[in-house]
Amino acid sequence: MGPELGTGRKSSWHITATCREPEGARLQRRRLESPVPFASSVTPAKPAHSCVRLARTPKKGRARAGVHGTGGLATAEYGRAGWTPDLAALVRGDDQKTGDGRRRPRAAQSPFAHRRLQDVDSFDYVIIGAGAAGSVLANRLTQDSDVTVCVLEAGPSDWHPYIHLPAGFIKTFYNKRLNWCYSQEPGPWTAGRRIYAPRGKTLGGSTSINGHIYNRGQRQDFDTWAQYGNRGWGYADVLPYFKRLERRIGDGEAAYRGREGSLTVTDMEWRHPLCDAFIEGALRLGIPRNPDYNGLTQEGVSYAQRTIHNGRRVSAATAFLRPAMKRANLTVRTDAHATSIVLEGKRAVGVLYSVGGRGGVAAEVRARREVILAGGTYNSPQLLQLSGIGPAPLLQSLGITVRHALAGVGEGLQDHYAPRTVARVRNIATINQQARGWRLGLEALKWGIARRGILALAPTLVYCFWHSGETAESSDLQLTFTPASYKEGEQGKLEDEPGMTVAAWQQRPESRGYVRLRSADPFEAPIIQTNYLAEEIDRRVVVAGMRLARKLLESAPLAPYYEREDFPGPGVQTHDEFLAAAAQRAQTTFHPGCSNRMGPASNPLSVVDDELRVHGLEGLRVVDASIMPRMISANLNASTLMIADKASDLIRGRSAPEPAPVREQNR
Ligand SMILES: Cc1cc2nc3c(=O)[nH]c(=O)nc-3n(C[C@H](O)[C@H](O)[C@H](O)COP(=O)(O)OP(=O)(O)OC[C@H]3O[C@@H](n4cnc5c(N)ncnc54)[C@H](O)[C@@H]3O)c2cc1C
Repeated sequence: MGPELGTGRKSSWHITATCREPEGARLQRRRLESPVPFASSVTPAKPAHSCVRLARTPKKGRARAGVHGTGGLATAEYGRAGWTPDLAALVRGDDQKTGDGRRRPRAAQSPFAHRRLQDVDSFDYVIIGAGAAGSVLANRLTQDSDVTVCVLEAGPSDWHPYIHLPAGFIKTFYNKRLNWCYSQEPGPWTAGRRIYAPRGKTLGGSTSINGHIYNRGQRQDFDTWAQYGNRGWGYADVLPYFKRLERRIGDGEAAYRGREGSLTVTDMEWRHPLCDAFIEGALRLGIPRNPDYNGLTQEGVSYAQRTIHNGRRVSAATAFLRPAMKRANLTVRTDAHATSIVLEGKRAVGVLYSVGGRGGVAAEVRARREVILAGGTYNSPQLLQLSGIGPAPLLQSLGITVRHALAGVGEGLQDHYAPRTVARVRNIATINQQARGWRLGLEALKWGIARRGILALAPTLVYCFWHSGETAESSDLQLTFTPASYKEGEQGKLEDEPGMTVAAWQQRPESRGYVRLRSADPFEAPIIQTNYLAEEIDRRVVVAGMRLARKLLESAPLAPYYEREDFPGPGVQTHDEFLAAAAQRAQTTFHPGCSNRMGPASNPLSVVDDELRVHGLEGLRVVDASIMPRMISANLNASTLMIADKASDLIRGRSAPEPAPVREQNR
């Protein structure tokens, strides 16, 4: 297919365009033979699909012009230093005047303009994704002032007030501008449902829309990673990174908790009689109170630890990226959707991206040292596959040229699957009531004056880690309690009647699924199949969790408030009935990981080595939740930040901190 350019207006400059057109999924670059008049009268070969974009953003003093053809796209960009030559188009100044008679800007006439911008558009490191991992990386790598870093983020800046208001969680949950709003494939135990899978799409990534819970996991999680052949990833190795990142306000032993990092972690100061009664009920069942589940032992029950400070969200962007953005050597580009990693032979040398997403202006940025993929568990394997890196049969079936066959890309996906047990409540108002009408007005006032009240809350308030009795492992269940309930068990919509919810999930599921391209279109959502509960042991542990949830809600301290079980309901008693209920209503807990697993090259399904370099390629690492070899006993934010902090040392060639002396018990 030849390049097809649309008609232009407003300019009579001539451009020599490098046209990109999909061949399968791989975007090819081709240079036009002769200058194309970027004016009046090029007749597009397929007019229906051709158009010209001329966008101006006067605030930044920039103009962009893009010419779209069928499948082909040529663009030029005008910045302070002149026309960019190396994005997709080269503008040649044969004419000194624009079509409407204005003089061509001086910078564009400079013979050096191209070179100047070319320098700007080439960085030492290009990071794809400004989420949890991308933000930490950007911060650490730019500590070296002689190093330049560019971050490409598909979403917008994190200006939206609902990002920063903790309870804004419920609003960003379905906001398509800030959230990828993915939907999973029906699985063997989802009763035909497509489970909704939100993911952050803004600075801070999912940490800008997440549930604020800070939970690291157990010692054995990381020791298992090390046992899989990943040197330097045991608990004693990673503990110093958890500590380095953290600014803990509240209790915690110095051996486990950090006080001088950038990520503020606080205890919840809000109290509700239902939460207190739930904790009391757990104690009566023999579950101990645990003052710090991120310390020596995870097991037990307590109020949650959160990444909320002074009533505002602490995202990876506010903690790590924004402070680094003050440095001259960091460039952050928002609305920059990476569409392909540019390979020269077996080396990654740059990234193609689209400014504005689908239908936007194509652009490219080069990486002198490395491209670092931090797009998250769904998007990172998607982008590798789009770039021709992945399982050969999959790529071939979609017409994508295989640049580097790697069977494990996208395979092995894991997540936590949580049925939520709901009881109707009497004799007390729950958050369902506090979040509407005049009461909500009062809460808004409280937040406005003191940054307190329900608007400063995380969506789950009490955490409980305990045993199912189905496995011999350390606590294999995680349960959360909230004095609120949600329509169809989905956290975005509060119910009208008073309710309380216990979510229960298996900490370390065995079931694995995959992330695969649906098509060669970089803007189409990938196929996400988590295969929840595919393994028998997972079904047993989840049912044990649901039984424990029921027991906790029926405990004596909650009796004054407990009216009846609404879901799954008293009719559900047998293993199969519980399982059927889980299939009908369980949801993701938003912890997908393991779709680009870390492991030695001898494992055909591993994607990155223990320095997070993609096996068989140079200049390309993956650094995000996708590299986890196995699901951990935790929500994934803390460990993803840790992964990125450790990766930053590996990339900078700095020696790791001394392994921490850890005591035996950490369950
Ligand atoms: C609703 C929700 C609630 C959660 N609750 C909690 C919680 O309470 N506690 C907890 O610990 N964890 C929680 N998590 C999970 C946690 O936030 C994530 O595990 C963590 O943020 C993962 O980090 P990451 O860097 O892998 O990906 P992300 O933080 O998702 O960052 C990936 C970034 O890459 C960008 N990106 C992707 N593709 C491209 C592309 N092609 N081009 C450019 N940019 C791209 C994305 O827009 C995003 O900004 C929650 C997640 C969600 C969605």
